[in-house]
Amino acid sequence: MLKDVNDPKNAYNELMTKDPMFWAKFIRRHQANFFDVHFHDKEILTEKDIYNAIKRVATFFDLPMPIVNERAEILAEVVTSENAEETELYYNTKLMYEAGINNNDTLTLAFVHELAHELLFNVRFMLIENELWIQELAADMLVGAFSTIGDDVATGKYKYVLRQLPASMTHPDGTLRAAIVEYGREYITQMRKQGEIDDIQEVLKGLPAFVYGHYQELQDSWNDVQLEDDQDNVPVETVPIDYESSPDTNLIKQYYLKHKNRKDDDI
Ligand SMILES: [Zn+2]
Repeated sequence: MLKDVNDPKNAYNELMTKDPMFWAKFIRRHQANFFDVHFHDKEILTEKDIYNAIKRVATFFDLPMPIVNERAEILAEVVTSENAEETELYYNTKLMYEAGINNNDTLTLAFVHELAHELLFNVRFMLIENELWIQELAADMLVGAFSTIGDDVATGKYKYVLRQLPASMTHPDGTLRAAIVEYGREYITQMRKQGEIDDIQEVLKGLPAFVYGHYQELQDSWNDVQLEDDQDNVPVETVPIDYESSPDTNLIKQYYLKHKNRKDDDI
């Protein structure tokens, strides 16, 4: 079984006894704006903090410690393979800090996202054409779920950083990614109330419902990105999905058929 969740009340009570500004701090833990992200709750992040954050997440997911490398051009990225022993995690402290990943909670969530990719290396969700997008959403749903386990981990800055990121061939729009972090928090809380969760990955049962709820938005955004990127030859893993052979109970299939029929009518 997963560790008990700390009731949000506990986090509130702790802050209240430590600091008279507790209320503002408590609120912005999960709802940070630009000012909160860049001026509040910042911590100096040392090499040791980075190592400890990665170690904590790897231990939580029962993954081997990745080979850790600092590299200039990206915030953070994991390069993994069939053999998880070869996983390499790249990050750039300065870029992360400037983007708003400037305390231990946010840093930990950034690494939860990266190591979630390692965890899901062999998983294919096949919910929309662009599997990479779904992998990103799944990783961010796990971020949301992780944030409710053990100590309540503040998600405000992480979601803010996501919202600044536009859709690309490899990543869906950051606003949607921030939304699924919140959805992951709610979904795991609900599952836990019903006593239905032994492993954090079970929260991904809720992923198809989220995708279904944002299907048109995802499809439109994906069409736009492809148009913009038409000249570039970025290799992206796309899987044609045969919705019609899915079971009738499949929500995506129902949506697909409804949409398809409407299209047929138009012709
Ligand atoms: Zn990712």
